[in-house]
Amino acid sequence: MRQSKLFTKTKKEAPTDEISKNAELLIRAGFIHKEMAGVYSYLPLGLRVLNKIENIIREEMNMVGGIEMRTAVFQSKEVWEKSNRWDDDIVDAWFKTKLKNGGEVGLSFTNEEAYSNILKQYVSSYKDLPIYPYDFKNIFRNEVRSKSGIMRGREFYWKALYSFSRNEEEHNEFYEKMKVAYQNIFKRSGIGHLTYMTFASGGSFSKYSHEFQTVISVGEDTIYLDEDSGIAINKEVYNDETIKGLGLIKEKLVEKRAVEVGNIFSLGTRFSEPFDLKYKDEKSQENLVIMGSYGIGLGRLMGTVVEALADDKGIIWPESIAPFKVHLLLLGDDEDVKKEADHVYETLTKNNIEVLFDDRVGLSPGEKFADADLLGIPYRFVVSSRSMKDNGVEVKKRNEEKGKVVSLEELLVLLKHSA
Ligand code: ATP
Ligand code: MG
Repeated sequence: MRQSKLFTKTKKEAPTDEISKNAELLIRAGFIHKEMAGVYSYLPLGLRVLNKIENIIREEMNMVGGIEMRTAVFQSKEVWEKSNRWDDDIVDAWFKTKLKNGGEVGLSFTNEEAYSNILKQYVSSYKDLPIYPYDFKNIFRNEVRSKSGIMRGREFYWKALYSFSRNEEEHNEFYEKMKVAYQNIFKRSGIGHLTYMTFASGGSFSKYSHEFQTVISVGEDTIYLDEDSGIAINKEVYNDETIKGLGLIKEKLVEKRAVEVGNIFSLGTRFSEPFDLKYKDEKSQENLVIMGSYGIGLGRLMGTVVEALADDKGIIWPESIAPFKVHLLLLGDDEDVKKEADHVYETLTKNNIEVLFDDRVGLSPGEKFADADLLGIPYRFVVSSRSMKDNGVEVKKRNEEKGKVVSLEELLVLLKHSA
């Protein structure tokens, strides 16, 4: 993509009411637009990152047997009354609205009821199970405070998978697979080294749920981490019984601030019961389906990556989720240099390398370098009269101090071998 055609431009300042680093950098770099507190639009660059995260998650979910679908955002009162979660006194996060001809609808704040209600129509025999449907979807929560940029939205994009199993054993086997899939997702997104499986409150159907907590200073949660095993305990269940039960030693646990990037839950029969979601086993006996839920906020994950990896010059994207692999900068307006930069751009594009080509005119090298640092694309390539004198392209990784001049052929080899 040519940067001259990209309508977004970098900004010196973020809105004055924006206090989170992730939103400040993402707004200044033109990845997102703030509509209001907790509500952001994704601009072309931001959407590219979100799509990459989505694809990583999709691959991992499909690998464990997930089947993608899409539940509706508008939810009916009757369905949610079954599980006793319609009432605002019970769930205070609802956004609700009225229909013109009477009747109320709620905007999904989660998906358990929608899935249970749909699957009631399709599940009747042991042969129908287990199943693992999931979706990517915008979720709406009337959060009291929304000061963490895209890490805590009032409207946010998530992935939620629900497991429907015949018994505890089948459920537990899948649950363990999901732990691994989640660890893969965070590793592949570039924050694996900072993300810990954390024991958290499990609701009424299992002792614990498992959160995936990324250690960053602006995290809203407090966890107690055993650095040797990589296991952590959320403050909400941090007590002598839990510590002992998990075989951990209190003196070794370190208190950390962290953000919950994902959460997996055993639900037991909490939802299958009110929805009468049952199956007939081999002996024609009826049993309630055992459920689990598995969520990840994609915006929260993206914001967490920005918070965790950025430096004082701007964003640093891991290659796996960067909007482009290469940021190609044309410096100066010498015709020969322009021609050479065009040639490099076309060669990279022909080789299926994603390139943002800064072909803008009238900007100083300093301005282009500063923009490249702010945008955080992994490889910076510079074509200038100087690089041409050295018969190549200057290449520098975003987190390196100095670049070096390399021939275009060598660059292609280098890029083929990275990620
Ligand atoms: P929190 O405790 O941070 O409010 P939660 O436990 O209520 O989150 P879940 O219902 O477990 O959230 O949702 C599953 C996942 O969705 C979370 O692990 C998180 O990644 C993401 N998520 C939840 N709330 C938000 C939000 N307001 N903005 C962005 N992502 C969110
Ligand atoms: Mg949670």
